[in-house]
Amino acid sequence: MSQIVTRFAPSPTGFLHIGGARTALFSYLLAKSQGGRFELRIEDTDRERSTPEATQAILDAMQWLDLQPDGETVFQHARADRHNEVIEQLLASGNAYYCDCTKEQVDAMRETARAQGKKPKYDGSCRERGLGPGPGRVVRLKTPLQGSVAYNDMVKGPIATACEEMDDMILRRSDGTPTYNLAVVVDDHDMGVTHVLRGDDHVNNTPRQILIYRALEWDVPEFGHVPMILGPDKKKLSKRHGALSVMEYQSMGYLPEAVVNYLARLGWSHGDQEVFTREELEQLFSVEHLGSSPSVFDTKKLEWLNAQYIVQADLNRLADLVLDVIREEAGDQEAANVDRDVLLRALPLLQPRAKTLVELAEASQFFLVDVSHLQYDEKAVNKFLKPDSLALLAEYTTALRGLDRFEEEALEALTKEFVEQRELKFKAIAQPIRVSITGRTASPGLFETMVVLGREQTLARLDRVQDFGL
Ligand code: GLU
Repeated sequence: MSQIVTRFAPSPTGFLHIGGARTALFSYLLAKSQGGRFELRIEDTDRERSTPEATQAILDAMQWLDLQPDGETVFQHARADRHNEVIEQLLASGNAYYCDCTKEQVDAMRETARAQGKKPKYDGSCRERGLGPGPGRVVRLKTPLQGSVAYNDMVKGPIATACEEMDDMILRRSDGTPTYNLAVVVDDHDMGVTHVLRGDDHVNNTPRQILIYRALEWDVPEFGHVPMILGPDKKKLSKRHGALSVMEYQSMGYLPEAVVNYLARLGWSHGDQEVFTREELEQLFSVEHLGSSPSVFDTKKLEWLNAQYIVQADLNRLADLVLDVIREEAGDQEAANVDRDVLLRALPLLQPRAKTLVELAEASQFFLVDVSHLQYDEKAVNKFLKPDSLALLAEYTTALRGLDRFEEEALEALTKEFVEQRELKFKAIAQPIRVSITGRTASPGLFETMVVLGREQTLARLDRVQDFGL
């Protein structure tokens, strides 16, 4: 079999939403799993609703998800001449005709059909009139009067539509612009697309598009329609269920590979496997395992996957991403002040506890600030830094100052000895130390935290809390 070609064909009327990203991903994976090509076409024919910002937002999101098309991006609007050339071809072959019926006339035809209990549609009254071009005239396809259009949907299985169900659809509007169905067919054909995978909001267009392929005697591609994504309440996914734009997931601190993995599993499965490398997805994806019922968006699962990817992420990359979050939230100066080495040493302690990069940045904060800027949680201070704890901490700080090697085992041995000598429980000193050096009651392991902070910062923080007793 020759190489397969798939495509993603978004209309640039807004950001790339989660559903669109999933369609793009499935099309991408379908191509890659069969050694094929994945193309991108921006369907910007609606000049009023399409914006360059939206086009850029889609390109940025695809880049973030690493769904790079194999060829040059095609812009549909730039192909209007070609669309018109094909419309002329259809007119010349007798498969299309001019129609001068007004909107009111067409509405009346629909009304009449409805009154007779028939499907409301344009009645074909201009089919045999032999009209030529003229102002206000549209071009329509001559839909066969009998027969049906049947195809085997890659996701939904066999679908057949009787021709009499379908209008003589408009191919060119009266303002001279080609319609969506015509443009899509011409572009898919010219781009060599062999497999069209798209949202099932297009399932009604497919038999119409197949009629255009037939009229042009072009090979008909395979079609597949992916069901939509629902919110946890089983209603259409919307803003109230969380974010809709892919890039909002970036701002919320998700890694692109987690989003890709999550979207791949949203409607596709491979046994019980949940975590997939990109290579695995590219090898294992198959349309046979695409579900035909709608999937429910599950933020908890996305968080869980994100946590898995954070644990595995390369430290240098993670440091860059955490710095991006700090820059975003606290400004360039704050990010520039970060000691990257401290961050790199702190990250392995924080990785197992973070669900997002935003959490990671937040959790790393106490490592990165100087003692004078450390924020103390008031409740934690009131509970754990009472005068008797401060007195104990002062003795502990003196003991710590004498320690030769500022390493985990040595710190642990010293602390153990310190509590044993005083017949105290470990926790009598552990929380006061933790609050002193981190400002909070939850942190990674005490001794590893001290090592990452280093002798100087640890002692400076223990010294600082003595001021709380004044
Ligand atoms: N441009 C259409 C949309 O964004 C998709 C067309 C297609 O995939 O055939 O809904």
